[in-house]
Formats: sequence, structure tokens, C-alpha cells
Amino acid sequence: MGDDMRSDHVASVRATGWLLGIGLTSACVGVSGGKPPDDSGSVTTSVEGGIVVTNVSGTSNRQGYLKVPVHIDEPQSVVQVVGQRSGWTSIDYITDSRGNSVFNWEDWSYSDESLTDCYYMSKNTTTINWPVREVDAWMEPGDYEVWVAALTSEGRYSADIEMRATVLVRPDANLTRGTLSALIAYANGVADDPEVVAATEEAAAHWAEIYASIGITLDVEYGSVDIDAELPSSSVGDPAYEALGESMGDRKVILVVGETITGDSWLYGEAGGIPGPFAPANTGIVAVGWLANAGADGRFSDQDLLLYGETMAHEMGHYLGLYHPVEDGFEYFDALSDTQRCTSYSSCESALGSNLMFPYPVCAGRTCTRQEDVTAEQSGVAHRYVGVL
Ligand SMILES: [Zn+2]
Repeated sequence: MGDDMRSDHVASVRATGWLLGIGLTSACVGVSGGKPPDDSGSVTTSVEGGIVVTNVSGTSNRQGYLKVPVHIDEPQSVVQVVGQRSGWTSIDYITDSRGNSVFNWEDWSYSDESLTDCYYMSKNTTTINWPVREVDAWMEPGDYEVWVAALTSEGRYSADIEMRATVLVRPDANLTRGTLSALIAYANGVADDPEVVAATEEAAAHWAEIYASIGITLDVEYGSVDIDAELPSSSVGDPAYEALGESMGDRKVILVVGETITGDSWLYGEAGGIPGPFAPANTGIVAVGWLANAGADGRFSDQDLLLYGETMAHEMGHYLGLYHPVEDGFEYFDALSDTQRCTSYSSCESALGSNLMFPYPVCAGRTCTRQEDVTAEQSGVAHRYVGVL
């Protein structure tokens, strides 16, 4: 089983966030809600498809935050805010016009359940998509602020830092039907191998089947990106990924196919965040290494093709906001009530081994359990992603 481990970035990010949680607490940030939006920056708004897109720029206040104003017009809306700066950043709060918190990172900092990566300190880009679940409630009409932090590498809050944010808002009453537009982009040289191209197209068809089972129509377009086939990590980020996002006519999620991710031939795939940004960003992609998906012989068997498609669906599942129902080690879980808690390899594999978001493939010899199941609450998270239209 160890060799098959789908070792994506979740565990390492969590470790960082856990340590950071302690650091942030001792930094003792004063929170005084209810202040008017910081008006030191500039704002531009446009409408793309059904999404109202607002770009905000400004500098962090004395507390180290750019308070990004979010105006909601339509009932039952979802909002995504992507905060970006040159350096470390996080999103810590969403507050309403009376200063009450809609999202408060402190509710989650010591939890053994994961809801969003946004409050973990990350380099250059941080993303929140709200609500995540039904219990988080829709964003209803009104004015809100999303607090994007500028941090030092030690997790201290920095004033007067230039920051920008993209705000995406749309009404989202329909949680049973939606379309996800995706670009599958080949890294340099990958599209020259007909076997890899054929395998990628077959895997994408399997990905589409899995998403169709929860009412999401996957609309795939193919392209290429000028980047080395030994892909840079999507959770660390790379300017080429942001440039790719900026070069697209329509807003889509992006999956980049390389030979490996950071030269690691066992790494199946890696998402740029949980959730990932629906905006050009240096972490704004899902990376897939075809070599790991083809297995040790480097050729795609029927089993490998299934696994390759599941990798795409799984990693994009992270990008849409889904965590593993249980993390390797059995100490951390998702924040959903219909993915069973379990505490050992055998009990987890029997309860959740066929779930799309199980942390690793479950194989006996050369045959692996199909991991295509998506629970109702997992489906609800995916449908609330601002890019599932
Ligand atoms: Zn994963």
C-alpha cells in the first residue's frame, strides 16, 4: 500500500497551519469589528457569465489586514475571495455590516476537522469560498468584509503592505446541477507522446463520468503551457501558472499535465489549494504527473486509466473545496457529517475506501477499488464552488 500512497500536499499544509495557529494566537491580534471598509484602495467591477467579478487593491491597515468589501445583491449567493500579495498571506475572517463574524478562523484553529485552507499562512495567494456547507448558510444580501492578512514569514501581521484581491459573487440556489469548464494544458513535450494524450483524454472522460454522477457537467478544452514537464509544485506556486490563467479568454479551472511534479515520480497529482482560486494565480491550477499515474512500467493499463481519471477527479475535488474524509494517521477529518469517522487502515478502507476523496488508492495486487463515491455533503461542497455554474 505504501507505494501507492496518493501523497498530495494536504498533510504538510496542515502541519504548517497547526504550528501557525499557535503562532498567531501568541501574536494577539486585536479584532475590532464593525469598522467601515478601508477606502485606501481601488475597486473595479465586471460581470462574467453569471459571476460578478470585483478587483480590489490597497494596502494593509495597522492590524495587517486589507478588509475587502463584498456586496451581495442576490439571495442565496456564494462568494469567493482570492487574496494576493508578494509574500505570506491568509484570510482570517468574514464579517457582516454589524461586525459579526460569518467566518472566524479561531473556530477551526484547534479542530480536528478541516473546512478551508484559507487561514493557513500561504505564499502569495489565499482563497476562501463561502459558504462551504449547508450549515454555513448562504451569503444573503448585504455588505460584508473579508479580512486578508499580510504576514511576515514568522506569521506576524504587517501594516502598509500592497495587496490585491479578486471577489467573485453569484447566486447559487441550484445544488443539483452545474457546469465546470476546465482547461487541460500539456506541459512542454507531453503532447508529443500520443499514448499520453490518448490516456489523458480517456482519463478525462472518466473524470467527467464521476462528476456527472453528482450533477456536474464537465466541459473540457485542451491546450498547452510553456512550462517544464517536471512541473513546479502547484501548492508552492509558479508565475507560469498565473500567466496561463491570464491568457485564457473565459474563466475556467486548469489542470496541467506534466511528466512529474517536482521530479517526484510517485506523486499522482496536487491541487493548488483547498479550495483553489477561480482566478489567475500562481497556485491557480491542479498539477498531474502522468508518469505516476501510468505506474512503474510507464504504460497505461486499463487499471492505470481508471486511476488516472480518479486522480483528476480527486485533485479537482480538493480544488473545489473537498478534504480527505480521513487523513493518513486517522487524527484529522473533513468537516462533513456524512463521511464516517474511522480510526484504522482496515476500518477506514472498509468504510470509505470507495470514496473519491479517500487519501490513497486501495489496491490488492494490480486491481484497485474504484474510488468514485461522492456523498451528498461532498457534492454540496463542490456545487457551492463559485466556478461550478
Ligand atoms: Zn488528496
